[in-house]
Amino acid sequence: MANPSLLILAGDGIGPEVMDVVKRIISWFGDKRDLTFDVSEDLVGGAAYDAHGVPLHDDTMAKAQEVDAVLLGAVGGPNYDDLDFSVKPERGLLRLRKEMDLFANLRPAQCFDALADFSSLKKELIAGLDIMIVRELTSGVYFGEPRGIHVEDNMRVGINTQRYTEAEIERAARAAFELAKKRGNKVCSMEKANVMESGILWRDVVNEVHQADYADVELSHMYADNGAMQLVRAPKQFDVILTDNLFGDILSDCAAMLTGSLGMLPSASLGLPMANGRPKAMYEPVHGSAPDITGQGKANPIACILSFAMALRYSFDQGTEADRLETAIEKVLADGARTGDLMGPEGGTPLSTTEMGDVILAALDASL
Ligand code: NAD
Repeated sequence: MANPSLLILAGDGIGPEVMDVVKRIISWFGDKRDLTFDVSEDLVGGAAYDAHGVPLHDDTMAKAQEVDAVLLGAVGGPNYDDLDFSVKPERGLLRLRKEMDLFANLRPAQCFDALADFSSLKKELIAGLDIMIVRELTSGVYFGEPRGIHVEDNMRVGINTQRYTEAEIERAARAAFELAKKRGNKVCSMEKANVMESGILWRDVVNEVHQADYADVELSHMYADNGAMQLVRAPKQFDVILTDNLFGDILSDCAAMLTGSLGMLPSASLGLPMANGRPKAMYEPVHGSAPDITGQGKANPIACILSFAMALRYSFDQGTEADRLETAIEKVLADGARTGDLMGPEGGTPLSTTEMGDVILAALDASL
């Protein structure tokens, strides 16, 4: 069988710095685990604008459609702030999400025990936390029509419309159930069925999908406001949380911050299965291009490495190897390895981006 293919779009700012570490890790899996990827690289964001005058070239878009998964660093930066909206670096990212139809956004909130003190919650509430939020990404109130600001009776009225079709809910629900099967086998679906018709439909369709194809997965429902409370009261009760675009935007930021630093947060955006059965997929750290630390070797590469671990698990069915990589990260953190963003009040000397890569690679070697 052909090697799985990966398109790397390192982007701007610290994107290329953290991606350099990830490329070494990808090579490690080829050398030591016989898991070789056909890796190609291209430009996105400001880097693409500098080369082509657009934040994503058509050829790059075409490549992204062909590969098994896209791994993206970060886009944006002060050099591009004054560009016309249509060619801003973020438009490259949005084009990828839109044209690949990446409707399921996966944001894990995973707490490494060594970093439990970084959370605003008590240590015992979050130590060992491992939850996944599946947010519907391409529909709902951010896209629904009618929308706009109108004048009615001499008064301005702002309008947005929450709109979901059965098909949109069904495919998001399927993504959540499939994920749960690879994790703790539990889905909690969140909406506001008490006050929103779209929420009633959401709950009905999730139940139908569950009964038809996923009855072996434990399903519960929660109103999203209660879900927000439960996330900060007892987050470990959850495995996979399924929710819509608006509630997911808020709940995923809340859940992510339970675990501390932006430099630790990966994400994935998945679409429909391709002919080979793998979902269309893009993996990227949650953080941006961090212009304040660009070029200084200060960036934490772990969010980007964990994004690659998600690719191993969700695109390439390599759950054991994803575990190996996450365990290596857990181990170096437990041993006290820290980039600057992870330094506690006790101080110490932070590792550079490359040095953090070195210790993670050494931990991977030790895992063999
Ligand atoms: P940011 O995430 O780039 O940085 C916020 C803060 O977190 C900064 O102090 C930064 O130094 C720190 N930080 C972020 N990632 C880190 C890492 N891996 N290691 C250590 N510290 C890290 O957000 P911002 O400053 O609001 O935005 C900067 C640029 O990035 C803007 O142009 C913005 O539009 C863009 N952006 C891009 C994405 C993306 O590519 N997905 C996401 C958010 C922001």
